[in-house]
Amino acid sequence: MGRIQDKVAIVTGAGSVGPGIGNGRATALVFAREGARVLLVDRDLALAEETCRMIAEAGASAGGESSTFQADVSDAAACGGIAAACIERYGRIDILHNNVGIEIAGGLADTTEEAWDRTLAVNLKSMFLMAKAVVPHMERQGSGAIVNISSINAIRTLPALSLPYAVSKAGVIAFTRDVAVEYAAKGIRVNAVLPGMMATPFVVAALTGAYGGDVDAMMKRRDGLCPTGRQGDGWDVAHLSLFLASDEAKYVTGESVVVDGAQTCRL
Ligand code: NAD
Repeated sequence: MGRIQDKVAIVTGAGSVGPGIGNGRATALVFAREGARVLLVDRDLALAEETCRMIAEAGASAGGESSTFQADVSDAAACGGIAAACIERYGRIDILHNNVGIEIAGGLADTTEEAWDRTLAVNLKSMFLMAKAVVPHMERQGSGAIVNISSINAIRTLPALSLPYAVSKAGVIAFTRDVAVEYAAKGIRVNAVLPGMMATPFVVAALTGAYGGDVDAMMKRRDGLCPTGRQGDGWDVAHLSLFLASDEAKYVTGESVVVDGAQTCRL
């Protein structure tokens, strides 16, 4: 049996912003491999379809399957549409994996009001909107698990400043904690994952400029900043998320769990 056999999961940002496997794509693949039926949500449908193809090619040995849905999770109506589509296709929602996040590098001096508003809308408001859309279904079922992707930037200042990003990710921790307490007695668990430095397409897209424009040099520098001598990857985030989404974590809720190869121990 898979570890989340026959559960229904929504993964937001299930594509990957560049070639390769990011946190959302890796999590969608792992959820499907462990037996879930997965609704792959992305504002860019082609990127979600690529993940869908990868799941089909992997053979979903534990019985998992997936389908795609195009939506921008910073839009309230779109989030309602995601929940409705999931119920229509699969009849229930057991897992909400709130993965979508963007990072616009810059400290106070460099950050525009537009960058601030966009980051807070995409990274934090989206989690509120998705939870509002999904939780009534979980409440009706009497069970559910939500995993919100934060960042160690919520609790530490990192070499490349990204002020609105850090603030949004700190908000994810408070959001996670409060909603977990509100719904604990209703069988709905809510946890946050705080990834450290991960070698993913997200980093290449968001941060290369802040590291001087050279991808290889950036990756080497980031590897060097990690106590393990190398960054993590999307699979590290996916495997922790799998545990938190599964019934193995039935008494874990309201937590913010770091996956960073001991980076925060040193910072
Ligand atoms: P990614 O940039 O590859 O994004 C995944 C998908 O999200 C993309 O396909 C993109 O089209 C989609 N997307 C972006 N905005 C969207 C929106 N408004 N609505 C719907 N879809 C949208 O990123 P990833 O590797 O999947 O990981 C992203 C998460 O991991 C973010 O929350 C990020 O903050 C977090 N994180 C990453 C690192 C790291 O080092 N890579 C570290 C800490 C936290």
